[in-house]
Amino acid sequence: AQHFLARMREHQDLGAFLAVDEEATLAQARAQDAALAAGTAGPLAGVPIAHKDVFVTRDFPTTAASRMLAGYRSPFDATIVERLAAAGCVSLGKLSCDEFAMGGDNESAAIAPVGHDAPRPVRNPWDAARVPGGSSGGSAAVVAAGLAPGATASDTGGSIRQPASLCGITGIKPTYGRASRYGMIAYASSLDQAGVMARSAEDCALLLSQLCGPDLERDSTSLDRPAEDFGRNLGEGIEGLRIGVPREFLGDGLAPDVRAAVEAALQEYERLGAKRVEISLPRTDLAVPVYYILSPAEASSNLSRFDGVRYGHRAAQYSDLVDMYRKSRSEAFGEEVKRRIMIGTYVLSEGYYDAYYLQAQKLRRMIADDLQQAFTQCDVIAGPVSPTVAWPIGAKTDPLATYLADIYTLPASLAGLPAMSVPAGFGDAGMPVGLQLIGNHFQEARLLNLAHRLQ
Ligand code: GLN
Repeated sequence: AQHFLARMREHQDLGAFLAVDEEATLAQARAQDAALAAGTAGPLAGVPIAHKDVFVTRDFPTTAASRMLAGYRSPFDATIVERLAAAGCVSLGKLSCDEFAMGGDNESAAIAPVGHDAPRPVRNPWDAARVPGGSSGGSAAVVAAGLAPGATASDTGGSIRQPASLCGITGIKPTYGRASRYGMIAYASSLDQAGVMARSAEDCALLLSQLCGPDLERDSTSLDRPAEDFGRNLGEGIEGLRIGVPREFLGDGLAPDVRAAVEAALQEYERLGAKRVEISLPRTDLAVPVYYILSPAEASSNLSRFDGVRYGHRAAQYSDLVDMYRKSRSEAFGEEVKRRIMIGTYVLSEGYYDAYYLQAQKLRRMIADDLQQAFTQCDVIAGPVSPTVAWPIGAKTDPLATYLADIYTLPASLAGLPAMSVPAGFGDAGMPVGLQLIGNHFQEARLLNLAHRLQ
């Protein structure tokens, strides 16, 4: 813990930590020393990790990188925080992300990182002029820069896989319902899923095996499925494994440098005995419009709790209750969050609900069915994570351009499938490229083994 706290102090230029408390971290570490001495230590005793700032923690403030929650401290720990602590992990602090996890570049973080006076995007450790990806940019950056051996993150539409890819590390989101959402600040509840990032598939497996597991009383979508040792297959051969590559994932929008790195990884799998199968996910191009109707719809509902009464910032001056809500929310939410609340409110309103929300729900089901159809032809699906390598900070000004870049990560999210990013090589400007692996429900162990073969 001391080693990583020192590295964190040295590398504040990354802007990755939103909250640290060295005393709290060292107290947790001392408790692990005592547990080791007493012979009561958990399997990850003393392993330092850091948490994305959407998971509530007692020892550190939790803000979801929003002014709305500046200074907020939860009276309890999120289930996944609790589970990792019970396994022995020591928390180094809280990590920056896009505000309320809405975004793909970490540029919307609205809280100043430790060591800075003003909010700023997290830097990509491979090139400080570039974004780390998002929304879990802080988690990916600290792992890539060696400021933490592992980190928690959340993935609603790609927020674990895409930053892992852009920062050259390994990240996995499990099957929807395997990781508890209790204490995870909600963005789009039917899609939100907690997961982990680390330097290797092996480390991801160690963390994920502790993080997953039923939490039936506290999360109504938690699955009654016991935790597993997700690393149990590591090292198994992959001879004969059918890897499906969706032809729609290798279309025009994919940058040539990313395509080359993905192709090289696929060839390596063939060399190891896997069989490449061409498959089709015919509704891939609908994933972006469907997701960007459903996720804002759920967000507009989830974020209604931030009204300056139950939670969050309250305006200093107002004339009546409605004016207080309006001013508090106008002052504290950032632009992207407001955009999504407005889109969500629109698609849910009377007269538009049938035209947008209901149609999107139907298409979501069809996209999930396409994936099930694909799994009759292959065991695992592989392809790119992001159409390009990490781009320069400030380069994307049109929100639509950022939305479109989510095309390869959204199908697995809409279908609730486990998916991960594993480093595949390097593209233009020496920036890392990730390979995406998507499994059928509960195939995490298989995905992690496949990722491990590439490392
Ligand atoms: N980029 C996607 C979005 O903005 C995904 C975010 C996420 O997975 N939290 O919604």
